[in-house]
Amino acid sequence: MGQPAPDLSSDVRVVFGAGSRASVAAEVRKLGLSKALVLATPHQHDAALGIAEHLGNLAVGVFCKAEMHTPVHVTEAAMAHVIETKADCVVSIGGGSTIGLGKAIAYRTGLTQVVIPTTYAGSECTPILGQTENGVKTTLRDPSVLPEVILYDAELVRTLPLGMTVTSALNAMAHAAEALYATNRTLETTALAVQGLKAFVDGLPKVLQDPWDLKAREETQRGAWACGTVLGQADMALHHKLCHTLGGSFNLPHADTHAIILPHAIAYNARAAAKDLTPICDLLGGTNAGTALYSFAKSMNAPLALKELGLKADDLERAADLATMKPYPNPQPVTRDDILALLTAAWAGDTPIE
Ligand code: NAD
Repeated sequence: MGQPAPDLSSDVRVVFGAGSRASVAAEVRKLGLSKALVLATPHQHDAALGIAEHLGNLAVGVFCKAEMHTPVHVTEAAMAHVIETKADCVVSIGGGSTIGLGKAIAYRTGLTQVVIPTTYAGSECTPILGQTENGVKTTLRDPSVLPEVILYDAELVRTLPLGMTVTSALNAMAHAAEALYATNRTLETTALAVQGLKAFVDGLPKVLQDPWDLKAREETQRGAWACGTVLGQADMALHHKLCHTLGGSFNLPHADTHAIILPHAIAYNARAAAKDLTPICDLLGGTNAGTALYSFAKSMNAPLALKELGLKADDLERAADLATMKPYPNPQPVTRDDILALLTAAWAGDTPIE
């Protein structure tokens, strides 16, 4: 606290509403643009065609080869389409992988992005771009990658499988949890983080009870917006470092890894930042924010053990080495032995070490 407040205002236009994807053509026209390249993963090809239909003659192409961690070779293939179609904007429909591709194009061209998120990962709200080349993932922050328009359409997130609904929600909650003790936190970022956490604590059980409940889906999307926005504003610490290491060097799936690590990283930091983490105990009950998150994740049927994701026991020593080599600033001092103990508990699915 006590540092200058990050600027929480921005020119991003954010629209919530079931069916809001139908306004995509109007949004593109409002921006004075007329040549949209639609982006998606292969899995969401049909959804991309649906958006192209809504765009009508404003759509100049559909590129459905987005992949996790934004590989540069995929961006280069997409760039060939941008040039060939003379696109003046991209419309990204999907999760963080598709949105990452749109950001990578915007970074290279300055093109405007209209984003229609279908997970809770929150990339649409950040000026952050992670890209992978030759097996190495690097991350940059640049205003040019922040999308201009976000359309949150609750109808689209209903098809997110239940398992991914839970892990993606915990991924979003992790952004907010780490913002509570971020070195550059302010009263504003803390309020936004609590708003995001509350939306998931209230909304996720309702979504699991009825995945087609549009009101509950929208509540969780509002949580994704709050958590993603706070990720763009507040510095991240141990939790994100561990997930970047496990994703980047051991190819573990993004949302599942966040879901498993979150209670352990928060319990670790509760040793030094228990007071800052009080809002989590207030929302979930209990006296330790990490164990409270563990119980919440368990009650939502989240995966709990890294070994379930295919990480080998033999990999733990190397993971501890890599995660402690260049640690992010963190409230609790980071030591290799402590991180190895944390990872061992997360690997086995044990309750977090307090
Ligand atoms: P994802 O975009 O990789 O999606 C996972 C799979 O689910 C894909 O096959 C996708 O097509 C499918 N899918 C997505 N939404 C669906 C829906 N509604 N119905 C059915 N299938 C659906 O997953 P993610 O977790 O959203 O994104 C992970 C990527 O995003 C990682 O590369 C991560 O680094 C990045 N990310 C970046 C930021 C940032 O600020 N730069 C923030 C969060 C995540």
